This record gives sequence, structure tokens and C-alpha cells, in this order.
Amino acid sequence: MAVQITVTGVVLSSMPIDEADKRVVLLTREMGRVSCFARGAKRMNSPLSAKTRTFAFGTFTLNPGKNAFSLSQAEISDYFEELVKDIEKTAYGYYFLELAGNFARENADESELVSLLYFSLKALGGNTLPAKLVQRVFEIKLLAINGFCPDFSVCAVCKKPVKEGFFRPDLMQAVDSDCMKEGAYPLSRSALYTFRFIRENSGKRLFSFTLSDEVLKEVEAVTEFLLTHTWDREPESRKMIRVLTGEG
Ligand SMILES: [Zn+2]
Repeated sequence: MAVQITVTGVVLSSMPIDEADKRVVLLTREMGRVSCFARGAKRMNSPLSAKTRTFAFGTFTLNPGKNAFSLSQAEISDYFEELVKDIEKTAYGYYFLELAGNFARENADESELVSLLYFSLKALGGNTLPAKLVQRVFEIKLLAINGFCPDFSVCAVCKKPVKEGFFRPDLMQAVDSDCMKEGAYPLSRSALYTFRFIRENSGKRLFSFTLSDEVLKEVEAVTEFLLTHTWDREPESRKMIRVLTGEG
């Protein structure tokens, strides 16, 4: 008899595949991205109906099948209701899920990514931080977890500590004023500290600060540069944020 597997994570997407069943993609701590079939989950009276909603976070029991896993039960600890009630926040949430799903590996430990996603969605649903800031923290930490966030503490050229400086797109790294070149992005002391803080911290602490508009702009310019280098085309859900917020 095949052994059941219990994993912890979040529903990234959930799609009906016929009158009764759904195909569910999970991001899990133990196995990274995993798809499974939820038999009968499309029926309103199925116990799996609500538990396979996008954003549902909890533990999922999977049965290995011939070609795919099937979901036998789930215990949901958070539906992120405060987030799904707000259309703009929902759009940000979908973007977080899509981006995390793009970076997530299969059959790999993705505990850091699951934790980042959980605390980012929590911060988004709360009312203390602007969604724009939550988005940037999420993106920077996602880049850092996957090895795409450079070191922001020493100059990439002369190796002296950088207190205030620039980001050089040609090197994809931070430099001090002696080693800057035209076209570099300015980074104030606070902007550099922000990148270092996000690299070095995790969980709830990531969402324990705010930034002035000027610093946020500096952080955004560099994040945008680093992020767009990791994809061939912009995730669909990100375009939706622009439509809803009227930006760009
Ligand atoms: Zn230097």
C-alpha cells in the first residue's frame, strides 16, 4: 500500500478539470511545488471544496497515485480572508503566489519560501504597511533566497564597506562613490541598510519597518532592475496590479 504524505503549505492555484474535480498546485515546505488532484472538490458539499481555495494555508495529506498525487484531506489554518475581501490586496496576493510559484522548485525543501509567502500575505492583509512596501520586501527576500540579491555591504570594485553609494547595473552590485560609473542608481544609507536588513532577516521581522517615499523609490529602482533580469516576461498578475492601482 502506498504511503500517505503530509505536507505544509499554501494553495497557489486551483482549477476545475471536469464537473467534479480540481487540479491543485501547492507550494510546500517539504516538497516545493507539487500538483495534485482533488477528487470531488468542485462539488459545493465536498469537504475539500473550501480547503482547495487559492491562498488556503495549512497541512495537506497526499496519496501517491500512478501518475499524480491525489489530495485526501486538508487542515486549513488560514484562508487570508482579510486579504481576499479587498480587490487591490487580492491582486497583490495573486502576484506573490505567481512569483513564488515561478521560483519554487519541485521535490525540494522550500521552507524559506513558504515562510516568506505566509508572512508577506499576513502583512498584506494587515493595515499597518502600504501594499507597495510589502511587495518590495517580498521581492527582495525572494531574490535573496534564490541567490539573486547581491551583497550590499562592500563595494564590488575596491571592497571597502559602502555606507552610501550606488548600484551599478553593469556589475549588478553596489559600489561606493569612488567606483561609480554613469548610469548607476543612487543608494542612500537607508536604502543600502534596507537591502541588508531584508537579506539578513526573516519571518515577521521583515515587515517591521516603514520607509520614506524617497528611500522607497531608490529601493524600488534597484529591485525592479534585479527582478526583471530573472524573468523573460512580466507575470500576468503583475499587470493586474498596475491596472487596479492606475500605475504605469
Ligand atoms: Zn569602491
